[in-house]
Amino acid sequence: MGRRLSWGRYPARPQTADAVAWPDDLPRLFVGQPPASTLAYGCGRSYGDSCLAESDHVIAMRGLDRVIEADWKSGVIRAQAGLTLSDVIDVALRRGWFPPVTPGTKFVTLGGAIANDVHGKNHHVQGTFGQHVLEFTLQRSDGRVLTCSRNENPDLFAATIGGLGLTGIILAVTLQLRPVHSGLIAQRSIRFGNLREFFELSQEYDAAHEYTVAWVDCLASGSRLGRGHYIMGDHSARGPRRPAAPGRISMPIDPPFSLINQLSLRCFNSLYYHRQRKQDEKRVVGYDPFFYPLDKLLNWNRMYGRRGFQQYQCVIPQANAEPAIAEILKRISASGMGSFLAVLKQCGPVQSPGLMSFPLHGASLALDFAQREPAISRLFAALDEVVHEAGGRLYPAKDAHMSAAHFRAAYPAWQQVEALRDPALMSQFWKRVAL
Ligand SMILES: Cc1cc2nc3c(=O)[nH]c(=O)nc-3n(C[C@H](O)[C@H](O)[C@H](O)COP(=O)(O)OP(=O)(O)OC[C@H]3O[C@@H](n4cnc5c(N)ncnc54)[C@H](O)[C@@H]3O)c2cc1C
Repeated sequence: MGRRLSWGRYPARPQTADAVAWPDDLPRLFVGQPPASTLAYGCGRSYGDSCLAESDHVIAMRGLDRVIEADWKSGVIRAQAGLTLSDVIDVALRRGWFPPVTPGTKFVTLGGAIANDVHGKNHHVQGTFGQHVLEFTLQRSDGRVLTCSRNENPDLFAATIGGLGLTGIILAVTLQLRPVHSGLIAQRSIRFGNLREFFELSQEYDAAHEYTVAWVDCLASGSRLGRGHYIMGDHSARGPRRPAAPGRISMPIDPPFSLINQLSLRCFNSLYYHRQRKQDEKRVVGYDPFFYPLDKLLNWNRMYGRRGFQQYQCVIPQANAEPAIAEILKRISASGMGSFLAVLKQCGPVQSPGLMSFPLHGASLALDFAQREPAISRLFAALDEVVHEAGGRLYPAKDAHMSAAHFRAAYPAWQQVEALRDPALMSQFWKRVAL
């Protein structure tokens, strides 16, 4: 037994957990008539309440972390669902393979990556994680273990990808990796002065690079609104497969209050914007600093103090992206709240196989806010209106506030997921928005 929270540590609802080490442990915890509903829990890297069980009791999946088989000629790996992307990289990179899609942290499980159908800096070319899942096995609470793929149980396959862990417990996953020559990334970073320039850079360079993303100074305003760095990257053709691992430090304590305030934010954002001396800079970097800069500081979420924080991530359809993102940034800048890193990304048109996948063809913006009432609720309500009117949506993996009305309008397939939901699984998020 242990106690778990979500990454944002808001809402503060500690979960008791039973840990699974072997698939045979699951029937005891899950099959038959469990006393109350439960939920699978991976690494708890979801920010809000989608990884918290309504009953406050979860099944911890990290112990199911074995590679079952791997074909290093084709790059197809089959592993238990508690294996993390960090573990996958450890076994696959030296053989010339890498996860096809990775979020901004490698400490996520395969099960968690499917349940949120995670996306990465290459969404505009590779789509979401679910696009590369060939098959998985799903334990249902009625005792059945079902194989799901595009051809076998296709309804459950589609409902489980982005299905927020509600359709069953994923036991094992078959994933197609992507070939790489080295563990290095050829990176180019261009400083841009405002939001218009971001969209122009995106238009010019997205098609030519596998990975693109921008960091935006969310406190800049006026003619500098939306200024930032546009970062492109591609797997390097040369270099070692295992570059030197970066050192890690850990946030050692829980400060009683947030270390993130208006002053520290303004200083950091301004310094970061100017830290790149040349306007256009090229470098070769290891995959760790390129994909996972935040993983360097373990438990960085503690910086926000005991009240925690919320991330706001929305995606706006292409036709409305520029004016809506500008309006959102204006409102954030005027509020004086915001985060060190606002991440702006152009998502592509690749359709996910999942019914409730978050990305749309358009622009996604993500940033963190210290949990401070009533300011945060007031700001989020104002931002939600802009997102809703622009036909956009919020990311359940990051959410702890979305209204039921906005959720249902933004994810019309939710009823199909509800129809296939395992009756023994229920999250706080789903209770809030769907029931
Ligand atoms: C620093 C940071 C950066 C991030 N960057 C991105 C990003 O770029 N793109 C992106 O898409 N996301 C991003 N995320 C969010 C993260 O990738 C997702 O929340 C991911 O799903 C977390 O996986 P997890 O293993 O921690 O799952 P958890 O957070 O523990 O759980 C997530 C969901 O998966 C379900 N689940 C877990 N295991 C199983 C299983 N075996 N069977 C069925 N359901 C299961 C849970 O029930 C829950 O609904 C980021 C998070 C952090 C902290």
